[in-house]
Amino acid sequence: MQISKFLAAFFIAIILMSAPSAFAQSAKDQAALAALATVDLKHTPAKKLFGAIKRPLDLSARSIGSYAKGCLSGAKALPVTGPAWQAMRTSRNRNWANPAMVSLIEKLARDAKQNDDWNGLLVGDMSQPRGGPMLTGHASHQIGLDADVWFTPMPDRILTVAERENFAPIEMVKDRSTLNRDAWTESRAKLIKTAASYPEVARIFVHPPIKAELCKWATGDRSWLAKVRPYYNHTYHFHIRIKCPPGFAGCKNQAPAAPKDGTGCGEELAYWMGPIPWAPKKRDPNAKPVKPAPALTLAGLPAECRAVVTAP
Ligand SMILES: [Zn+2]
Repeated sequence: MQISKFLAAFFIAIILMSAPSAFAQSAKDQAALAALATVDLKHTPAKKLFGAIKRPLDLSARSIGSYAKGCLSGAKALPVTGPAWQAMRTSRNRNWANPAMVSLIEKLARDAKQNDDWNGLLVGDMSQPRGGPMLTGHASHQIGLDADVWFTPMPDRILTVAERENFAPIEMVKDRSTLNRDAWTESRAKLIKTAASYPEVARIFVHPPIKAELCKWATGDRSWLAKVRPYYNHTYHFHIRIKCPPGFAGCKNQAPAAPKDGTGCGEELAYWMGPIPWAPKKRDPNAKPVKPAPALTLAGLPAECRAVVTAP
């Protein structure tokens, strides 16, 4: 179909979706779905399709595909305010996940409050209502098994909607290899250890100096450290990834985190604390310019995701 037609349908959907009335809830979804019905599903980037849908697909919970290439049916919302957590940046509508992930966040919130001197969790992005790729941020978070948790403890009051949008998180690092000692506390180490110790958790991502600090801090059984992996852009939050819940073959686990030394505190950490991962990629000046990879479309996702994003 013509691109102008698609754009018109898309923008009408966006305008309808922002109408703040009781009627808007159903109008929103109808408009988004109507827009989808006229969209060229073959060529439209999948992030535009998944980013436009505001409600989950009311079927059984299934994480379909892999963390960075998949979608989600039967998503459950993490309540934006719970006894020991609050969801942040709620305008993004990314507090959806596989019910197993929602339960894990609720459990971590309770356990950390009880045992880790941690007042409560501020929860960042989880997934979109039907998972899938996002218009902004995150390669993963597509199948409802990833969640970002802030290193800033929950305040003793319920944050307003505006505060949830604008509240600035505390940065835990000064640069790529230096921890911010003015901000870091042992309670943060305990919180990560609690999360990493759950059997359902597959990986936790943190900025490299945080892993270095945990390696120094941990005593006794240090096997949980293997799950805590250094990675870019985890300076004010850590990222929890859980394994595929049992019983659905269409969900693809990653190979288990298994650093050679059993903790990742040796060679792997040294690599991340060094310059190599941060160096700009060298290119041959005589080489042809590289074409940017085309945006992921539905064809790049598991076949079931087409039904997930187009179903009413
Ligand atoms: Zn994340």
